[in-house]
Amino acid sequence: LQPERKLGMALVGLGGYAKNQLAPALQQTKHVRLAGIVTGTPSKAEEWTAKYNIPKANVYDYKTFDRIIDNKDIDIVYVVLPNSMHAEYVIRAAKAGKHVICEKPMAITVKECQEMIDACKKANRQLAIGYRLHYEPFTQEMMRLGREKVFGNLKFLEASDGFKAGDPNQWRLKKALAGGGPMMDVGIYAIQGVRLVTGLEPLSVTAQFGPKTDPQKFKDVEETMYWQFEFPNGITSTSTTSYAAGVERLYASAENGWFELRPAFGYGPLKGMTSKGPIEKPVVNHQAMHMDGICKDLIDGKQLPKHITGEEGMQDMKIITATYQAAETGRKIKI
Ligand code: NDP
Repeated sequence: LQPERKLGMALVGLGGYAKNQLAPALQQTKHVRLAGIVTGTPSKAEEWTAKYNIPKANVYDYKTFDRIIDNKDIDIVYVVLPNSMHAEYVIRAAKAGKHVICEKPMAITVKECQEMIDACKKANRQLAIGYRLHYEPFTQEMMRLGREKVFGNLKFLEASDGFKAGDPNQWRLKKALAGGGPMMDVGIYAIQGVRLVTGLEPLSVTAQFGPKTDPQKFKDVEETMYWQFEFPNGITSTSTTSYAAGVERLYASAENGWFELRPAFGYGPLKGMTSKGPIEKPVVNHQAMHMDGICKDLIDGKQLPKHITGEEGMQDMKIITATYQAAETGRKIKI
């Protein structure tokens, strides 16, 4: 790869996130450009090729996707499909010799995550997860405050992420496509939050399902879920995720003070406060920072930072699996 060249990216699945966040962000990126699309909807192909000046030769559907192996314009594929489709398309992208970014949650089982990691290793390509906050300045400051013990030893954290899910027919409410409910979709950000701030892995989890206030809408997946982690050194965390109402907060209490983000996980602007005063950081475009951060490392031939790799995505899936098990059995589950 030539350092002066922008990588060419193909987006797979032109839904809300690709259309409203990733494509606009790709108009601002320095190290990557929107070069191709993979879509099952012909009208989207027409709209996108015109809007973003994408050559017809760089347009694929789900059947023709594997031909991307012959396309020198495409260096990296970004999988933005419903969760249950991530594994298949990441593996096919790796087999086509492309680097891959895969949206969160990485997949719907730990086994799939392992297969995705193996496929990318075998193809000698790198795999990153769509954790757009790892390059985000407020999140990085929370990591610094926690890991460098700026307020002393951490004691307990509260991290929650939820929103009111509208359309009762969306794939997010279907277990076969989503793998679960709000836990898979946004609870994963709360899990990421406490792992990032502590720099530690949870040792065990207890969890509870909330009430189903709309049993018809939530016949397939949980509506609300609560869980508690125990970390090493007596650190604990408590979390809520929900499709019933909004919540978005990452709070850490330490021996000598506290620090928090609220909002913490959405597209921003994020806001931070500590017991000593506000966190002042620049407001950035999360998606542009994330894609540029990854693509700069790929251009420079570097290994991606561990916390955005497939291994990290798989660790979150292990934790989520244990959390569901804890809620289903009512027992404390070792992770
Ligand atoms: P959407 O439902 O808006 O879009 C999904 C797209 O996938 C569809 O538009 C369609 O694109 C394609 N698709 C192919 N098969 C199916 C199918 N059976 N059912 C539904 N869609 C299908 O979802 P989002 O864009 O909101 O989410 C996509 C992924 O991105 C998810 O994994 C989600 O978790 C993640 N995400 C991450 C965010 C973040 O902040 N990191 C934020 C939002 C989402 P086409 O018509 O082109 O074939």
